[in-house]
Amino acid sequence: MRKILVTIIALLFCSISFSQVKNTLDNYETVYKDSNVTFRKVDKNTWLGSGNVMSSESMYLIEGKKRAILIDAGTTIPNLHEVVAKITAKPVTLVLTHVHPDHAGAVNCFGEVWISPGDTVNMPEFMPDYGGKVNYLTDGQKFKLGGRTIEAFFTPGHTPGSVTFLETGTDRGFCGDAFGTGSGKIQKFKLKDIGLQMLKEQGVEVI
Ligand SMILES: [Zn+2]
Repeated sequence: MRKILVTIIALLFCSISFSQVKNTLDNYETVYKDSNVTFRKVDKNTWLGSGNVMSSESMYLIEGKKRAILIDAGTTIPNLHEVVAKITAKPVTLVLTHVHPDHAGAVNCFGEVWISPGDTVNMPEFMPDYGGKVNYLTDGQKFKLGGRTIEAFFTPGHTPGSVTFLETGTDRGFCGDAFGTGSGKIQKFKLKDIGLQMLKEQGVEVI
């Protein structure tokens, strides 16, 4: 039953609420590059990181006036915190779309991380040595960065705790593998602000 509900939610969302942005990596200015990771500038205060081990390891650095948020931590980037600090001077909060090794690889660079409680099942395998503080997201939780707000939207399926992060007031969704991401793709959620409510109104049980 759970799998059926997840599939229904994914199909509804896929069919009516997003379109993929063309992979335009080459159009973005490279602001940092080393043997492990490349960060490119999407706009004035948003950067896209691409790890060099796997094609799926996108990271998103989103900066507000007060804080920044880093979505995902690549596969093998031993100094990710230092790389990020070269790009933004703001304090950075690490959040994960899900706990898979190509998204949580450099979690040890950070003393604190936010994940969905649904992915605690993956922690023994993919975050076995993490000694920092693990915080648990709630569905709808908002991260106020100063002029920009990022909202956690639970989208289980790829893993039990997969999360899509929506930027309030924009059509941007940062979804890890929940909707078939690849490096350089940012989903556009046209109905992002009403998606969850819409599903509920249609009688779909959101889990
Ligand atoms: Zn994954």
